[in-house]
Amino acid sequence: MAGEPQDDCLFCKIVAGHIPATIVRETETTVAFRDINPKAPTHILVIPKAHYENAAALAAGAPELAADVLRETRAVADEDELDSYRIVFNTGSGAGQTVWHAHAHVLGGRGLEWPPG
Ligand code: ADP
Repeated sequence: MAGEPQDDCLFCKIVAGHIPATIVRETETTVAFRDINPKAPTHILVIPKAHYENAAALAAGAPELAADVLRETRAVADEDELDSYRIVFNTGSGAGQTVWHAHAHVLGGRGLEWPPG
């Protein structure tokens, strides 16, 4: 069922505390933690605690939760005192999504080029 924890989901395991992560912030509905393979000095992932496979499923199935995730991207940027940063939702394998639990990448702390590769 949409939103239910999935046994085989890495990020559901982080939410449950079964896999360690460097947690930056946690709210009732979201968790933010540092990416294990950072692509910038700040690289934080903001996820909903509930399981949705990507940003599209999250926006369609739980728009208020999508708003919570987006609000938290600002909060984690504040944690690292970033004025400029990039929010990325890789959505689908062709866009580079490898973990099938919706997550916002918050990247900053260096100059970021456009367009991305
Ligand atoms: P990509 O791997 O192409 O960036 P995604 O957009 O699905 O694809 O992002 C998954 C992110 O999750 C990657 O940046 C990866 O480094 C990160 N990641 C994977 N495992 C962990 C973990 N245990 N703790 C923190 N971040 C992780």
